[in-house]
Amino acid sequence: MQDLAGKRYIVYGVASDTSLAWAIARELGDRGALVTLAYQKRFMSRVLQLVKDQKWVEQYEECDVSLDESVRTFHTKLTGEYDGLVHAIGYAPADALMKPITETTQEDFTTAMVVSSYSLIRVVRHALPHLQHGASVVTLTYLGANRVVPGYRIMGTAKAALEELVRELAASCGPAYGLRVNAVSAGPVKTLAASGVPGFDMILDWMATNTPLRRNVTQQDVAHATNFLLSPAASGITGQVIYVDAGYASVGAPPELERVLVEPRITPPDGPV
Ligand code: NAP
Repeated sequence: MQDLAGKRYIVYGVASDTSLAWAIARELGDRGALVTLAYQKRFMSRVLQLVKDQKWVEQYEECDVSLDESVRTFHTKLTGEYDGLVHAIGYAPADALMKPITETTQEDFTTAMVVSSYSLIRVVRHALPHLQHGASVVTLTYLGANRVVPGYRIMGTAKAALEELVRELAASCGPAYGLRVNAVSAGPVKTLAASGVPGFDMILDWMATNTPLRRNVTQQDVAHATNFLLSPAASGITGQVIYVDAGYASVGAPPELERVLVEPRITPPDGPV
């Protein structure tokens, strides 16, 4: 693993020890970087437990990305320059994921888009003055951005917008700031946010037997790829969505079909007919 000693990163979206944000932050720490964590106020006690005795955690502050004032205040507490940030935030009201898409209210749609997509613009805008030239931004997305996944509903729309924003921000902030902006599209991993997706356990079961690697991905798989994109090793990569999903996005039909195809469907009769 590449040494990130002397580098500093901001990680938004730590809710618990299962959070993808926490796995990413911990690996950054293991590689020698210093990390500032942004968390939602209601998770304060959990975050306090997590950061105890973690010398690589430089700072931890609450930040609600749905409120401009909260994001502004968070950034006023930062000092010095950072080498990048991780945006690991997604939310849609649970109710909205249970109803048919035709019943989606404007309010729920707006909430999902503001928290899960617009927040990337907001975070980058406020963080830019604190980022070094050539810094790296990584956000987390899901396959539901470009395929229908039952139960994902408006989160799919929000992730589609997020992935487009990755390209917009990369094109907009690359020339002046050398900023790289990428997304990691993670396969399903059991976290607090994922538990709110109806049928999530069935999706996990399906993936375990239908991905090319015949397994689900782990928090560590996602952390490895994210840390690569944050590091100078990815210096030429921007505006991309990188899949960390055990290969699922590359297949078009269940592998079970292969067994059907290779077994002869008609047994040829013995000898010449
Ligand atoms: P998680 O541990 O629940 O993290 C989601 C984080 O987003 C939580 O800290 C959550 O806080 C935060 N958040 C929601 N609204 C916020 C707001 N207004 N301000 C600040 N933070 C807010 O779940 P996770 O699975 O690690 O999710 C991290 C990212 O990975 C999300 O973008 C998710 O869509 C993406 N992702 C996850 C999977 C998966 O299967 N787990 C797969 C692909 C992509 P609250 O709990 O308070 O809302």
